[in-house]
Amino acid sequence: MSTTLFKVTRSHTAPDTLGRAVDWRTLGTCSTTPDDELWFPEATDKATTRDAITVCLSCPVLLLCRQAAADEERGDGKQSRYGIRGGLTPAQRWAADPYTQAGKGKGGRRLAPCGTNAAYDRHVRSDEQPCDPCRRAHNERNVQVRAEARHRRTTTERSAA
Ligand code: SF4
Repeated sequence: MSTTLFKVTRSHTAPDTLGRAVDWRTLGTCSTTPDDELWFPEATDKATTRDAITVCLSCPVLLLCRQAAADEERGDGKQSRYGIRGGLTPAQRWAADPYTQAGKGKGGRRLAPCGTNAAYDRHVRSDEQPCDPCRRAHNERNVQVRAEARHRRTTTERSAA
């Protein structure tokens, strides 16, 4: 009579069932868009630049992308920045960088961050679709302006009576 022996092997480590942190870059709209040339338009190609910015503005990782660009390009010259990142052109990122002459103090052109009325105006001036945080900030500002106007009217009417 023969007996078959099964060798049982046991691992001394717990099974690796924990999830991994997701790299935000994989969640970017550009990572799933087949035409990645869209994000690297010629400086003179305004139409493609606008299209890329429009896509960025509805990207779920816009702010993370913008922050990563700011960290990676800190202090770089305008010519060393490439492509549209976080909805900003190389020139806009350069102008917003506090480590460049353009971004410093008085003479610099700091870009207002999204979620402000100034950034809403910038979107409109650049012929872009304002993002949701900017649209919210703009609506709040409108409500505030109307309330101030109402208050002024009431005060004037009272003092005239
Ligand atoms: S914000 Fe634009 S460049 Fe950044 S990950 Fe999203 S689509 Fe890509």
